Amino acid sequence: MTIKPIDHFKIYTGHKIMIAGPCSAENERQVMETARSLSEAGVKIFRAGIWKPRTKPGCFEGIGIPGLAWLQQVKKETGMAVTTEVANPHHVEEALKAGIDLLWIGARTTVNPFAMQDIANALRGVDIPVLVKNPINPDLELWIGAMERLNKAGITKMAAIHRGFSTYGESIYRNEPQWQIPIELRRRLPELPILCDPSHMGGRSELVYSLAQTALDLDADGLMIEVHINPSCALSDASQQLTPASFNQMVERLITRREPDAAEFVNLEMYRKRIDDCDSRLMEILAERMDIAREIGIFKKSHNLTVLQSERYSDIIDTLENKGLELGITPQCIRNIFESIHTESIRHQLELIKDKQSGN
Ligand code: PEP
Ligand code: MN
Repeated sequence: MTIKPIDHFKIYTGHKIMIAGPCSAENERQVMETARSLSEAGVKIFRAGIWKPRTKPGCFEGIGIPGLAWLQQVKKETGMAVTTEVANPHHVEEALKAGIDLLWIGARTTVNPFAMQDIANALRGVDIPVLVKNPINPDLELWIGAMERLNKAGITKMAAIHRGFSTYGESIYRNEPQWQIPIELRRRLPELPILCDPSHMGGRSELVYSLAQTALDLDADGLMIEVHINPSCALSDASQQLTPASFNQMVERLITRREPDAAEFVNLEMYRKRIDDCDSRLMEILAERMDIAREIGIFKKSHNLTVLQSERYSDIIDTLENKGLELGITPQCIRNIFESIHTESIRHQLELIKDKQSGN
C-alpha cells in the first residue's frame, strides 16, 4: 500500500492527533456549543455522526443532510477541520459536496467488502484523508483489506482507528480492546497512522481515560473521543460521552510518552539482550517439549490410543495455573500459552496418525 506520512494530512499539528465531538449531530445548538468548547480546549478536528448505524430500527438514525450545514458552521466559526462517518456512496457524495475535511468509515461498514468497494469507487480521484475503524469482529485481514480497497482507488492519506471488537457475553468493555491486533497492524504496516477510539471501546465514560492512556503508552498516533455538552440527554451513546469539562480534565491527565534518547536506548538494548537470551532458552525448551510430544505420538499410534487425552490436558492446565500463581503469572496468561503449545503437540500427533492412514 502507498500511504502518505501523517504530516501530509492537512489536519496534522505536529502532536498526537486529537479528534473530538459528539457521537451524533443532534441540533445546531448542541453541535455549536460542543464545538466552541472543544476549540477553546485546543482541539483541531471536530467529529459528529450525521448518518448513524444503529443496532435496532426506531432509534435515532442521525439527522442526515441538514446536519452537514452545522458542520460547515463549525468550520467557519472555529476553524476546526470536521469529520463524519460515511457508509455508502450517497453519504460520500453529500459529505464531499459539504466540504467535510476527513471521512471516517465505521466498524459496521469496514466489515463489509461490498460496501467498502462502493465507497472506494465513489472516492476514486478524490484527495481526502479517510480514517478506517476496525471491523466489529477481530479480523485483521478484513481491516487491512478495507484499507487496500481505498488505497487502490487512490486514497493515500489514510489512518486506522482502533475502537475495539465485539464479543458475546459479559465484558467490562463495550468492545474488547484486543491490543495485540493494532500492535500486529503496526508491525505489518509501519507507515500507517493508528488512532484509538476509547469511547466506543469502553462504552462508559469512566473507562475512557485509562483506555486512552493505554493507547498512548502503546504509541497510538492520536485519539478520537466522544464529547457532548449534555451526555445524559444524548440521542446515541449517552453513557460513553464526556462533557467538555471532563474531556479537558482527561487531556490534562494524559501523559504522552516519547521515544528513547541515545543513552536510554543503550540501557534498553541491555534489557533487550536479556529478553533475547530468555527467548532463545524458551525456544530450546519448546523444541525439546515438541520432541517428547512426538515420541508420545509414536507410542500412542503404535498402541492405537486416542491422540487427545482430555483429563491429562486439564491436569496440566490446573497444575500450571497453580504454579503460575506462585510465580506471579496470571491464569489467563498460562492458559493462552499452554493452549497454543498443546494445540501444536496435538497437531503433530494427528499428522503422525495421518501418515499411518496414508500408508507412509
Ligand atoms: C461512531 O463513531 O459514532 C460509531 C458509530 O463508531 P463505530 O463504527 O466504531 O461503532
Ligand atoms: Mn458513538
